[in-house]
Amino acid sequence: MIPSNKLAPLYERHKAEYDSAAIRAMESGWYILGQELSAFEAEFADYVGSSHCIGLNSGLDALILAIRALDIGPGDEVIVQANTYIATVLAITENRATPVFVEPDGYHGIDPDKLEQAITEKTKAIMAVHLYGLPCNMDSIVEIANRRNIPVIEDCAQSHGATWKGRKTGTFGTINCFSFFPTKNLGAFGDAGAIVTDDMGLADKVKTLRNYGSKKKYYNDVCGVNSRLDEIQAALLRVRLKYLDETLNERASIAEYYLSNIDSSVVTLPSIRPEASHVWHLFVVESQNRDDLQAHLEARGIQTQIHYPVPPHLSGAYGHLGYKVGDYPITEGLANSVLSLPLYNCMTDDEMREVCAAVNEFGGMRR
Ligand SMILES: *Cc1c(COP(=O)(O)O)cnc(C)c1O
Repeated sequence: MIPSNKLAPLYERHKAEYDSAAIRAMESGWYILGQELSAFEAEFADYVGSSHCIGLNSGLDALILAIRALDIGPGDEVIVQANTYIATVLAITENRATPVFVEPDGYHGIDPDKLEQAITEKTKAIMAVHLYGLPCNMDSIVEIANRRNIPVIEDCAQSHGATWKGRKTGTFGTINCFSFFPTKNLGAFGDAGAIVTDDMGLADKVKTLRNYGSKKKYYNDVCGVNSRLDEIQAALLRVRLKYLDETLNERASIAEYYLSNIDSSVVTLPSIRPEASHVWHLFVVESQNRDDLQAHLEARGIQTQIHYPVPPHLSGAYGHLGYKVGDYPITEGLANSVLSLPLYNCMTDDEMREVCAAVNEFGGMRR
């Protein structure tokens, strides 16, 4: 059986280092907002190429606090691509602002050509999601946003280390969000996330917000929350970060193998923008017979996943917004055709071969 994902092998590969990092954090006697977090924040900011990093509880918290730090609230609109994980949208509605959906371009990123029409007087931010690990068209998005003086928020939950014209995601927007959920390319051993920004004022605001709205203990300036990345997770993430590029290279070689060995007339392979590097958080193929393909693979012991089967605008959570099937046809088409093949670090050659053979068996070979 080949699972869609497998997390333990990457821990096993550097087990001694993870174990000693966790023990070091425990032995320090200091568990929240300490040296491990400060060190991780400095190291991750440096990795991304941003001035500030603020560690938080989760990727969703990062998105929520990014929007809050920009003072976005009721009556404001935030533009977001329609084909994203619901967390991106929840961050908008959690702040009582209104999501305005925009369809993706041919690479699953927000379509700059459709972005401009969605902007109104009420637009207070544009969210770009580097879905599956492939950066959005950042030149066009930033150009449109700058011309209108609207801040950009990057959702980098799936794109740690991915680049657009050689620059890493997380350096294009005004305030940018990462998740370190265990399955992400830089994953903690529990929930964790972060914001990166070059804006000192925003960094300061997020730091205050994550700690009950307090800069000085027991003096609370704003209504904040409790969203802190704890010392053990920070210590473990420092080890993960040390090996991140190695992790990404390994994922790239698996993706490369799939790209050159999958050859079925009824399966479309992911395409990569020439200006970008893909970090392969997910290897997503498309098929008009997606459900049959998934069943075919399942019957051969290969597990796959769908990212994502229901677009946010059609989800139960947003029923009250009144969207209907057909409102965002490209996004809805993707929800019905995308399938994520197994891709995880420490995947064996046999496993990769097996996946390709099973996919190629579906619908016959092209050549
Ligand atoms: C995982 C993910 C999030 C949420 O991150 P959590 O750490 O799970 O809260 C947000 N946006 C995208 C695109 C994601 O993939």
